[in-house]
Amino acid sequence: MDIRSQFPLLNQTVYNKPLVYFDNAATTQKPQSVVDALCRYYTTLNSNIHRGAHYLAAQATEAYENTRKAVQRLINARQSNEIVFTRGTTESINLVASSFAQRYIGEGDEVIVSAMEHHSNIVPWQLACERHGAHLRVIPFSDEGVLDLVALEQLINERTRIVAVNHVSNTLGTINPIADIVRIAHSHQVPVLVDGAQAISHMAVDVQALDCDFYCFSGHKMYAPMGVGVMYGREKWLEEMPPYQGGGEMIKDVTFERTTYNELPFKFEAGTPSVGDVLGLQAAIDFMQQTGIDTIARQEQELTDYATRQLLEFDNIRIFGTAPHKTSVISFLLGNAHPYDVGTLLDKLGIAVRTGHHCTQPIMDRYGIPGTVRASFAVYNTREEVDILIAALRRIAPMLD
Ligand code: PMP
Repeated sequence: MDIRSQFPLLNQTVYNKPLVYFDNAATTQKPQSVVDALCRYYTTLNSNIHRGAHYLAAQATEAYENTRKAVQRLINARQSNEIVFTRGTTESINLVASSFAQRYIGEGDEVIVSAMEHHSNIVPWQLACERHGAHLRVIPFSDEGVLDLVALEQLINERTRIVAVNHVSNTLGTINPIADIVRIAHSHQVPVLVDGAQAISHMAVDVQALDCDFYCFSGHKMYAPMGVGVMYGREKWLEEMPPYQGGGEMIKDVTFERTTYNELPFKFEAGTPSVGDVLGLQAAIDFMQQTGIDTIARQEQELTDYATRQLLEFDNIRIFGTAPHKTSVISFLLGNAHPYDVGTLLDKLGIAVRTGHHCTQPIMDRYGIPGTVRASFAVYNTREEVDILIAALRRIAPMLD
């Protein structure tokens, strides 16, 4: 079955125009197989996992745990107990920032992030630093959007406790050299957390090859439902880190005097998880594997190159993020037009883009701009849709002078 026709939502009009969905970095649309998996769960399987001694609970538990194994294979983790289900990237990073900091970060210590992080890979570390009297240090990037690894070498010292960087920038599209960053950090015995929110749907991710210590991502940006995400952590860290939340399922024994904790990964999965969404994630992984990550990457690269070429033909365009290695995100400004005005006019023509700071205010400050217009592509997008965007920009440009 052809890729696009598996996505029912795309086949509609908005304001009497065919929908052009270019806001995939915010969230991707879902194939019918993912919607069907959710529906099947709630119509045939719904029950609480791990605890019930009945047929439905056993079936649901098996399906949930099979998805954990599928995620393990997807990112090539050594063991399935290194895969923790969360609500999304934000919760995954908060989990690590909170729990890791409690165990390893103290007065005067330092945490390194990059200047191109999403707020969700900045604020949890700021909170942790505030709580423990530590300081945040920042890796700068060049005008093209390339991280300065020489600066990273200079920033790391004996007080550095962790480096937290994104694999791909949601605003600039830059693919960061994670293996190199890990090599530098590990040579100082410093672990690395990778925010993989914008990488997981665009490229093969191998946590053993990257050698990173934590890898976080959201299901909803990789064709799965909202409400499920993953925190991969190397076993040796997860064993030593304290629980993030307390509640059911994460305990071994509870008395009023003392509680002992469950084994991994359950120590980090307090309460009832979003089982249906996890099964939806399984269907999304199946979709990506059936489509082929190489096919996905190739299609997205072609669209990005094609759209970039067309945009550069405007004489008053500025593209932010021109790193040699980038994914399918194009952030731009048209003349002096405010990005919000561009986005609103495009919307009226049926084209969905994102405008604003994209939860990366430090990037906007770096360039001295209020925000950008961001078009981001997924495997189901087409050249014809890019043509519609370009024609629309030609039409609205004179209105914004
Ligand atoms: N990091 C990056 C790079 C992102 O693009 C996003 C989502 N925009 C997040 C983290 C947060 O993801 P979520 O909202 O799914 O938790």
